[in-house]
Amino acid sequence: MGSTVFERNPAPASVVEHSLAKTELAPFWTSDAPRGKALPALSAALTADLVIVGGGYTGLWTALLAKQRDSSQRVIVLEAKTCGWAASGRNGGFVEATLTHGESNGRTRFPNEYDQLDAMGLANLDEIQATVTKMKWKVDFERNGSFAVATEDYQAKDLEHEADGERGIFLSKEEIQKKVSSPTYQAALFEPLDTALVHPAKLANELMQSCLDAGVEIFENSPVTDLNADSDAVTVATKKGSVRASRVALATNAFPSLLKRYQLHTVPVYDYVLMTEPLSTAQMKSIGWNGREGIADCANQFHYYRLSADNRILFGGYDAIYHYGGKIRSAYDDRPESFRKLASHFFTTFPQLEGVQFTHRWAGVIDTSSRFSAFFATAHQGRVSYAAGFTGLGVAATRFAANVMLDQLTGLDTERTRLEMVRKMPLPFPPEPFTYPSVQVTRFALDRADHNDGKRGLFLKTLDAVGLGFDS
Ligand SMILES: Cc1cc2nc3c(=O)[nH]c(=O)nc-3n(C[C@H](O)[C@H](O)[C@H](O)COP(=O)(O)OP(=O)(O)OC[C@H]3O[C@@H](n4cnc5c(N)ncnc54)[C@H](O)[C@@H]3O)c2cc1C
Repeated sequence: MGSTVFERNPAPASVVEHSLAKTELAPFWTSDAPRGKALPALSAALTADLVIVGGGYTGLWTALLAKQRDSSQRVIVLEAKTCGWAASGRNGGFVEATLTHGESNGRTRFPNEYDQLDAMGLANLDEIQATVTKMKWKVDFERNGSFAVATEDYQAKDLEHEADGERGIFLSKEEIQKKVSSPTYQAALFEPLDTALVHPAKLANELMQSCLDAGVEIFENSPVTDLNADSDAVTVATKKGSVRASRVALATNAFPSLLKRYQLHTVPVYDYVLMTEPLSTAQMKSIGWNGREGIADCANQFHYYRLSADNRILFGGYDAIYHYGGKIRSAYDDRPESFRKLASHFFTTFPQLEGVQFTHRWAGVIDTSSRFSAFFATAHQGRVSYAAGFTGLGVAATRFAANVMLDQLTGLDTERTRLEMVRKMPLPFPPEPFTYPSVQVTRFALDRADHNDGKRGLFLKTLDAVGLGFDS
């Protein structure tokens, strides 16, 4: 078994300790773009045309697009805490065109419609950009493209194979190192069109404000505990109120589904992130990165990193931690060993930044599905629609999902609703006590593959064959 570049060249322990000495356990983004006072909680029995459960990107896009389709309808959003507190306010801010967690996963799972999904994903990203411009959202949107960087020789070969010269341009070791200076880079694939960067919390805030401006009613601190259907409508209930509506969109991401039969279609997996202090001009010069692209490396356990508007570096990924029973707890946000590992990998990537400190550390839950991409379910004679399973790539895909749910709920036959990706559900994960060991064994197998020139062993090949995967 080989070792990875991050193990061959770990940062000195003193550099790691110093870099983490002053971090605050909080997402940088929500600290940087704080929300005003929480909106009132639901405390009455209301009726609506459409009620949406969950106030992240999925729920807010669904509400906004619903109002844009028909401004006369009454649309209510119920959010358990405050809008954008969860994944939507704490992610990496990569706005990716892909709806399928990348081309290779998309082609494997949806070979007959991949090209269509690819075009729809790109159109979705273009529409997000157009909305940001039209609505004058201040969300630090930058369509800079991205680099997939190879940190091992075998990955460089894969990238060369993937390059098509237009959407994916191959860069040799010398070419990528001229653009971004890291001794770990062996080659890169530049994708100029497929990625934008955004300030995630500002996006959540602007979306929420636009919903309110459009007349959407939003209730915060209003967790929905019950969903009941009769022949005319569906009622969702909180502790102190309820909304009876003809249509319901469920946008609860990694949190337990209100539709019991889909509770095993996602597992919540923790992802960890560090944010540096703003870099000085000299520090910026030492890395280059003038195009401000998003960057991700290529192993199964990968890092993603990017610059913020004030030239901090966000560095996240690698560990993907599942807790027994799919538990989600704020205590899990702090995982010193994951942050130390990330910090060490950061200085392996950019040794010239030794001495830089991280100001924020945080974690968030990802709704991993067994096909690594969103699924769409309906229930109660089509009155309820549910989208989840974005598997850590939902900043853009949630808007596509919102449109799918609205198509489904209004009974429209569209290009979106005809997709196999929309009509076909992924396999569920096994229930506990089997989920935990199967996730651990899969992680172990992925780690082994990363230490063995990416070669997938029999276990992963079997999972690939039955379409039951696991990823961050
Ligand atoms: C650390 C991290 C980094 C990421 N980086 C990227 C990235 O760079 N690019 C990318 O594309 N994706 C990324 N993602 C994924 C992306 O953030 C998510 O796919 C996206 O935000 C999902 O939006 P959502 O609205 O479905 O979920 P969420 O933002 O999680 O919102 C779901 C909401 O539903 C509410 N809710 C749940 N249950 C109930 C209930 N019963 N009643 C009322 N409300 C309820 C929750 O309180 C929550 O606010 C990342 C995720 C994490 C955690």
